[in-house]
Amino acid sequence: MEPAVAHARYSTTVNYSGPIERVGLQIAMKAEAQPLIEALGLHYYSAIDRLPHLLFASGRVGQIELHIVIHGQDNRFLVDRVGTENATLAAFKLIEHCQPNMIINAGTAGGFQNKGAEIGDVYLSSGVVFHDHRIPLGNFREYGRGAFPVINAPQLLHDLSLKSGVVSTGNSLDLVAADLENMVATGAAVKDMEAAAIAQVAYDQQVPFMAVKSVTDLVDSPCDVGEVFLKNLSLASGNLANRVNELIVRLGNGVRLENL
Ligand code: SAH
Repeated sequence: MEPAVAHARYSTTVNYSGPIERVGLQIAMKAEAQPLIEALGLHYYSAIDRLPHLLFASGRVGQIELHIVIHGQDNRFLVDRVGTENATLAAFKLIEHCQPNMIINAGTAGGFQNKGAEIGDVYLSSGVVFHDHRIPLGNFREYGRGAFPVINAPQLLHDLSLKSGVVSTGNSLDLVAADLENMVATGAAVKDMEAAAIAQVAYDQQVPFMAVKSVTDLVDSPCDVGEVFLKNLSLASGNLANRVNELIVRLGNGVRLENL
């Protein structure tokens, strides 16, 4: 039997008790970010040297300075730069440039109906793993899986009516049997294309991390995932913006990680 995400060798939660002064919010797609930027009254600021596609926006919310990084557009294919490579790069730049005390990855995801997911649900990560790093070779197997620590936020789960679940990351929007097998082994509730990549950078740089994901499509229901995604993107982005907005306001009111 495959080891589950809460395998004894991993700590899946983060302990940090310092004040939260700067918050980094990473969002892959502009359509996912725009409702939040408007709701929080943030302002775009000029691009980072040598990575001009990355979009940064910032503003003060109560006691915190909030910085959003958006992956931006691919200038050849004119689509958002979703996926792990851009996630890693943007996370590193966000940390280097803004020195956040915590990182939130907000975005959309596919949900597992058999784990109770419904379109428009918003999930808070109880763990983050990769499902498409298959390296069946000693410790490489678990290295590939990742299982990075996440912030434990029981109060937030309750107050914002979030669902709790493992977020599983890979570089495909569709689903192949081998990926599904890994997701069943880790008990994944939602499937995305960025969270674990960002969590890895955050872990390496010792920045506490959480993912907040709203469900645009159901992974285990037969459909054209691209079509369903587009149909539900605005509903899911709206729900996501409401919850992340409340989370940011809470942090702006001076709530510390251990009380989240
Ligand atoms: N068809 C979309 C493509 C979006 S790519 C378009 O034309 O814009 C999917 C993005 O949403 C990624 O950032 C990923 O994190 C998230 N996502 C939503 N549903 C997903 C799913 N079922 N599997 C993987 N990622 C998903």
